[in-house]
Amino acid sequence: MVIALITGITGQDGGYLAERLLSEGAAVHGLVHDGDLGVADLMRRCPSVVLHDGDLTDDASLAAVVTDAEPDEVYNLAGISSVAFSWERPVLTADVTALGAARLLEQVWQLQDRSGMPVRFVQASSSEVFGDADVAPQDEATPLNPNSPYGASKALAHQLVGVYRGRGLHAVSAILYNHESPRRPPTFVTRKITRAAARIAQGLEHELVLGNLNARRDWGWAPDYVDAMVRAARHSEAADYVVATGKAHSVRDFVAAAFVRAGVEDWERRVRVDQDFVRPSDAALQVGNAARAHAFLGWEPTVDFQELVGRMVDADLQATPAH
Ligand code: NAP
Ligand code: GDP
Repeated sequence: MVIALITGITGQDGGYLAERLLSEGAAVHGLVHDGDLGVADLMRRCPSVVLHDGDLTDDASLAAVVTDAEPDEVYNLAGISSVAFSWERPVLTADVTALGAARLLEQVWQLQDRSGMPVRFVQASSSEVFGDADVAPQDEATPLNPNSPYGASKALAHQLVGVYRGRGLHAVSAILYNHESPRRPPTFVTRKITRAAARIAQGLEHELVLGNLNARRDWGWAPDYVDAMVRAARHSEAADYVVATGKAHSVRDFVAAAFVRAGVEDWERRVRVDQDFVRPSDAALQVGNAARAHAFLGWEPTVDFQELVGRMVDADLQATPAH
């Protein structure tokens, strides 16, 4: 039986990953930190996961969870995952997202060293390591050039994965482009839009206030990205993989598609731009080339842009009181 340890198990990806691994018969352990609001929801969906208290900023708790769980596979999904928030808390972001990966890699390396049993490590890296890249689409050879505290923290973690791979750990960096679902919190632009479109359609709200409408992102379906991480963990060779759909759309495109799906035709009258939501720097275009993941992992995205928007809007329409 595979034993998996997931950090960030109460997050969007952590929940999908736990469900997936449990359905395959794995034993799933998760790290949860103080005051984690997602625990009740996770335990309702996945009652058999084994939770361990800990924090990516606390070495001793990481040593304890790695020693207790003795995992075959470790998925490091925890972190400050919001670029916008990373501008407000850059030091915390570096501590959790960059140094946290260093702490966990070292504990996993020590487990492998003392047990003699191979451990597979997957780091949830990000397209933000490329920042405002000079080339599009980006791939595994694109130079790292982060332009936010979040991107810089993910870049250090990504490079540490390479260092530990060189030392003999089966360590993978999955360079994930934006991936979404109805479980995405409304602090991210897609869910903010689909939630507002549903509420405006039902007369519960009247206006949606956003920042940069021109940014273009490569948005995919979260369970597909979890699937890529599992495939990468189980491939015979550890490597870096871009995980992306290869298609970019602007925030404006997302707004238009969501409002149309919700049945609101005059969306331009309902949307206002406020500088408070515009970031100090923001990549104009992020779009990934996942050819390596296709070739080596047999991975393909299964949900296109229109279907993604449709699933998210429909879930938000269902969630509003009119239903
Ligand atoms: P998410 O929903 O924000 O989940 C992050 C998880 O990390 C949450 O369970 C959070 O718990 C936990 N966490 C935060 N600080 C922690 C700490 N100090 N110690 C232990 N746990 C901590 O993120 P996601 O969307 O599932 O993404 C998963 C990973 O992929 C993240 O590392 C993210 O940066 C990366 N990624 C995501 C995307 C995307 O589009 N979703 C794209 C590229 C990369 P609390 O909620 O209780 O704080
Ligand atoms: P990120 O790519 O991880 O930062 O994911 P987000 O969903 O937070 O942001 C995606 C893009 O949407 C970025 O280019 C943001 O600048 C842009 N954006 C525009 N308006 C908003 C907004 O109101 N909230 C957020 N979170 N992003 C916005």
